[in-house]
Amino acid sequence: MVVEAVQQEDAGAQVQIAPQLVLDDIRQARLQALGGADTSWLEQLQAQRGLEDAGFLQALASVSGLEVLSSDALFAATPDFEVLSYVECSRRHCVPVREGSDGALTLVLADPYSEEIAQWARSHLSEAYDARLAHMRDIRALLAGAEQAVRATEEQLGEQLDESDPSEGEIVSLEAIEADSSPVIRAVSAILYDALKQRASDIHLKSTPGGMNVKFRLDGVLVGVSDIRGADMAQRLISRIKVMSMLDIAERRVPQDGRFRVRSKASYVDFRVSIMPSIHGEDAVLRLLDRSSLTGGQEKVLRLADLSLEAAAMTTLRRLVAQPYGMILVTGPTGSGKTTTLYAALQEINHGHENIITIEDPVEYQLAGVLQIPVNEKKGLTFARGLRSILRHDPDKIMVGEVRDEETAQISVQAALTGHLVLTTVHANSIFDVVGRLLHMGVDAYSLSSALVGIWAQRLLRLNCPRCVRPYEPDPEQLAVSNLSMDALRGHTLLAGAGCSHCRATGYKGRQVVAEYMTMNDRLRDLVATKAPVSALRQEAALQGSQNLRDAAMALFLAGRTTLAEVNRVTFADA
Ligand SMILES: [Zn+2]
Repeated sequence: MVVEAVQQEDAGAQVQIAPQLVLDDIRQARLQALGGADTSWLEQLQAQRGLEDAGFLQALASVSGLEVLSSDALFAATPDFEVLSYVECSRRHCVPVREGSDGALTLVLADPYSEEIAQWARSHLSEAYDARLAHMRDIRALLAGAEQAVRATEEQLGEQLDESDPSEGEIVSLEAIEADSSPVIRAVSAILYDALKQRASDIHLKSTPGGMNVKFRLDGVLVGVSDIRGADMAQRLISRIKVMSMLDIAERRVPQDGRFRVRSKASYVDFRVSIMPSIHGEDAVLRLLDRSSLTGGQEKVLRLADLSLEAAAMTTLRRLVAQPYGMILVTGPTGSGKTTTLYAALQEINHGHENIITIEDPVEYQLAGVLQIPVNEKKGLTFARGLRSILRHDPDKIMVGEVRDEETAQISVQAALTGHLVLTTVHANSIFDVVGRLLHMGVDAYSLSSALVGIWAQRLLRLNCPRCVRPYEPDPEQLAVSNLSMDALRGHTLLAGAGCSHCRATGYKGRQVVAEYMTMNDRLRDLVATKAPVSALRQEAALQGSQNLRDAAMALFLAGRTTLAEVNRVTFADA
């Protein structure tokens, strides 16, 4: 009602009437509240001027030039917390809403002057949007109402945990974030909450001269999430993470690592923390280890079938892990999902009739019914020593987290030769380099050739976002770099994501394993035993029909599932 009165007055006056607020008032009020994301200046200013909600809003609209979205329209619209995170919006008193039949996006704000909010929204929204003004009180009411819905979907993500053991881990939930009075604790919890919600694999906190950048690794790629203002705040965030990980807060000049556990609605989540001194302070990387995704009980058990492998690769992997004894080597760079593949393979053969023991650094996931031993170098429990102990523990299948020294390599091969199935990872570029790596570690070529049953290498390739995918044509330069001609592409429908809010403007959503593998036969064994050059191994493997990484990735590109750029990111072009 009051809004209409003000508007009529404006229209009727025809000439510029003195607004009830001028820019100086706003400057003053913001200065008193120290700017930033703090929006309390709005309430203070309104109280100072003794204005009603509607009158204040209208005055603010006329000074800022931002149009008002009426209460009715605001509450009739549908909030969309897929495009902007609920927690981040609550902190900034804004709401992304969809209106009308076309579902156009509008960002409703309480504070039209916050550069921080404007920048944050610009960097996170990939589709066009309008900005509108609403009263803080209405935005709060809308956020409070939406919270129920946000929580409900959160609960659907997983069953409630047994509440009988509240001692283990801090709780990360909307209630806990809002209930905490410390801005530092709240900020850290909000970051963890968002990372879990978006299924990030890592959180990167990077100190800058003026504060800190927060980035998440989503589908293998780092994405900027928010900026923390102020070096002091940045340092306090790091301290908070150190406290949670039981690290030394006073020590800021040497790297430290630790871990901590939190509880979310769905599960327990462990974070592995690495703190590194930098020129602007300290940086932290938090790796999320979501153990619930692999353990039994209420949660789904990861199987090979969940790895999204193409059929031939899946069959080969199944056949390899079904071997009664021998050695299976898995290789790939960090973050290529090879540990996940090994875990899935172990689950496949985990029937309870055989004794499965692992030695890992660290134990990333707990597997039901499997004895898992963490390496502890400080206490002298190395891979080699642990492996010797395991062999006295009557194992059938053994997983060695990584073979990186001569002793471990020797024992692993011996174990495989004496009737055990040994699964392990080795750092190498391709399945052919793996053999060379082990020989270099001093393993006897003949023993290796007898022990090996298969070698597997893999990468994770991002797939095109299904919501914004459209036909595309790689440019000639890219084709040349990739050793491809236009002719080779004829007859294929090439697709790429254009970028939308569903894929955070990257054009990619979800990942798939691409694999290269070799199953040993007599011919290959001879070549390994006689230390034949890599080229001979490669030739024989090709004859045998083994898959190579580049071909596997290229097949996905030609099928319109990914882009040439992504293929080139994860595999080398053939020379
Ligand atoms: Zn998309």
